[in-house]
Amino acid sequence: MTVLPYEDALATFDPVLGLEVHVELNTASKMFCGCSTEFGAPPNTQTCPTCLGLPGSLPVVNARAVESAIRIGLALNCSIASWCRFARKNYFYPDMPKNYQISQYDEPIAFNGWTEVEVDGETYRIDIERAHMEEDTGKSLHVGGATGRIHGAEYSLLDYNRCGVPLIEIVTKPIEGAGEKAPEVARAYVTMLRDLLRALDVSDVRMEQGSLRCDANVSLMPKQATEFGTRTETKNVNSLRSVERSIRYEITRQAAVLTEGGTITLETRHWHEDTGVTTPGRSKESAEDYRYFPEPDLVPVAPDEAWVEELRATLPEPPAARLKRVSAEWGFTELELRDVVAAGAVDLIDRTVAAGSSAQAARKWWLSEVARRANETGVDLADAGITPEQVAEIQALVDDKTINDKLARQVFDGVFAGEGTPAEVVTARGLAVVSDDGALGAAVDAAINANPDVADKIKSGKVQAAGALIGAVMKEMRGQADAGRVRELILEKLS
Ligand code: ADP
Ligand code: MG
Ligand code: ZN
Repeated sequence: MTVLPYEDALATFDPVLGLEVHVELNTASKMFCGCSTEFGAPPNTQTCPTCLGLPGSLPVVNARAVESAIRIGLALNCSIASWCRFARKNYFYPDMPKNYQISQYDEPIAFNGWTEVEVDGETYRIDIERAHMEEDTGKSLHVGGATGRIHGAEYSLLDYNRCGVPLIEIVTKPIEGAGEKAPEVARAYVTMLRDLLRALDVSDVRMEQGSLRCDANVSLMPKQATEFGTRTETKNVNSLRSVERSIRYEITRQAAVLTEGGTITLETRHWHEDTGVTTPGRSKESAEDYRYFPEPDLVPVAPDEAWVEELRATLPEPPAARLKRVSAEWGFTELELRDVVAAGAVDLIDRTVAAGSSAQAARKWWLSEVARRANETGVDLADAGITPEQVAEIQALVDDKTINDKLARQVFDGVFAGEGTPAEVVTARGLAVVSDDGALGAAVDAAINANPDVADKIKSGKVQAAGALIGAVMKEMRGQADAGRVRELILEKLS
């Protein structure tokens, strides 16, 4: 597939983006029935007549899901509908047994909001078109093909556990004016949403488990043009990094098509993490194709104003305000703060600090040990396999001198490898620093005996030569000696 170099594409075209983010709510039960929403249960063990769409079953709205929808809407500065209905979106797919999805169409619970993100010190405003409630579909597992997609598969398995899990779809208005920064603005927006949703405690927002999913619409318009170009919609981009990469790729692909005189097809596309390209999916159906109509089995949702105001009072600190606060509190340099924002680590560091770590230590661990692990495994920092509380626990072990920085790296490895909590890893791997004079004394004596020339230098007053002996003791004790105490012992013995 031909692509135009990114700089060339941006010299000719302005990208326009539209982001549709689906978030699975963390309610205990489903949107319209009492089935559990627990992730990872054996297939088809969390179903009932309602979420399987059996004849005669009737949906009932989950009040907690409505509450979460309103809180999300408020956090995104949306207006909240005083009266709205669900709608049936009609289409066939095997993972959707009712043959329609209960969604919201022209009466979303939340609409006309806005939010802000920061990229490289610049603020970008993102307008929110709507946030509406709907239900998730089941999951198809296509078996036998090379790609896991339906094409080439021998057969498909269906798991209806996810059917009816509450979803909120958050849709932006077209995002213009980000220019070459468009892919980064998109990533910053999804990062901000993830942090916000986590702070609202409405979802566990795990992109790799699909509880936060992003569809990225991209179009290009020639500079100076006044009308938007035709968009493509890249579906289910499932990491923050992929949001940025897939949009960047799609800009270069569309630019090549357009400069060669071709046209963009309104279609969905698939993102391929391994090859870094998008390929065509299906051509987009229009709203009429779905034959939306108001859901006759459900009463309208009419949240009264007092309740909405009650919910407004439960909102967490907005991400932009938090960024202002932490940049004052943490005392990072501008460059450090920018790296932290670019890495999507503000929330993680904030929580690590809340768990007792210093800000500098939290920054160091998230941007070194955890970032390395996340890069190796191709996941986001938050999904690298360690929690902010555990990072704070490791730093506490460093602070109380149970371990040193070097040993701490091994504790990170142990936690990543699933060996337990930091304290458990220290015990199981025997990582604690030895400061006991008995054990240290023996190792110091051995080092002195093995290096008589160095010992003589120290005796004659060249105290800085002690470094060589400390190194020998450290090596002997696999890095676990208390370096300060070793130095003292050497000087005592040789004075
Ligand atoms: P669909 O149901 O087809 O997914 P939506 O309205 O739910 O449509 O979402 C389309 C998304 O794309 C919205 O975020 C919208 O702002 C955005 N969008 C609309 N037109 C364009 C365009 N020409 N280029 C880029 N994004 C667009
Ligand atoms: Mg849509
Ligand atoms: Zn059910």
